[in-house]
Amino acid sequence: TGTAVTIIGLGLMGRALAGAFLKAGHPTTVWNRTAAKADELVAEGAQSAASLADALTASPLTILCLTDYQAVHELLGAHGSGLDDSEPDDSGPHGPGTHSSGPHSPHPHSPGTHSPGTHSPGPAGTTLVNLTSGDSTQARETAEWAGRHGVRYLDGAIMAVPPVIGTAEAVILLSGPRPVFAAHEPVLAALGTVTHLGADPGLASLYDVAGLAMMWSVLNAWLQGTALLRTAGVDAASYAPFAQRIAAVVATWLPGYAAQIDSGSFPAVVSALETDARAMTHLIEESEAAGVNAELPKLFKSMADRAIAAGHGGEQYPVLIEEFGRPAA
Ligand code: NDP
Repeated sequence: TGTAVTIIGLGLMGRALAGAFLKAGHPTTVWNRTAAKADELVAEGAQSAASLADALTASPLTILCLTDYQAVHELLGAHGSGLDDSEPDDSGPHGPGTHSSGPHSPHPHSPGTHSPGTHSPGPAGTTLVNLTSGDSTQARETAEWAGRHGVRYLDGAIMAVPPVIGTAEAVILLSGPRPVFAAHEPVLAALGTVTHLGADPGLASLYDVAGLAMMWSVLNAWLQGTALLRTAGVDAASYAPFAQRIAAVVATWLPGYAAQIDSGSFPAVVSALETDARAMTHLIEESEAAGVNAELPKLFKSMADRAIAAGHGGEQYPVLIEEFGRPAA
């Protein structure tokens, strides 16, 4: 039999997470503010916790998946969770959220031996994995809050939609103390492709938004080209395969360009930034002549122009990291 796990928050995503754990054979306890959302999962074999406190003590691992961090704090800070700040806690910041460098003690419940009901470890006996979307500051603050309550904590981000949860396509990012991740990795693997990014609990949120920047940039660039080609009667479907090949080729440049960024040296091996900037002018002029939006190419041209004005025209494209690494002038 699998290791017990609890899911708190049974929205579209929480129900998908619980379903994946059930399918993988993990005894699954569920709790939701609106209790009826547990019904279908209970019919599939989940245990419904009678209270939030019961949910938090049912399993060595508790997944949170609520709307936002405010909901997480409202819920866990509430009287009855056993984690509310009104209860005296003089145990000090010794939990996982503090940035202590030493190894954390392994989980007291060895996987497979936990049996809900035979003992009552209290909320601090469970490891919280918060898969609620938020920013890195919220993640770090919540990790500190967990630390103050002696609760082991991982912060996470889900880069997938509910229907793919439980398949390799579901990318689940986690950050926080590695020993905490290692203790629960076998169970978390039921959710999809689970990656631990590092000890800083803010990393999952940062990777999440970095991935969004990638996604929207590729899509916006494709839309720019599609808008241009449509003015010549080329439909989106005809251009898409060409765009797909360009995106795939450009993606192969990233590791080499990353090496330039990490070494702080940008020799123009393939082309110089000023050559790229001339091509950008061409794209802007084509867009304007065709009567399509030119804001996007103007944005990246203005960044390239600033880098050229700062003396980087003879260097390679990733020298623009200096423009990206500070607020706009
Ligand atoms: P839903 O709106 O479907 O569910 C929200 C859940 O949060 C419900 O269980 C709701 O309870 C609960 N909740 C909200 N406020 C409170 C509160 N104050 N106290 C207790 N419970 C509360 O959202 P999703 O399930 O789609 O999303 C959940 C998280 O997953 C979000 O952070 C989202 O960004 C993230 N995510 C979702 C994806 C998706 O495609 N759906 C993709 C990637 C990430 P109740 O039922 O009682 O209202």
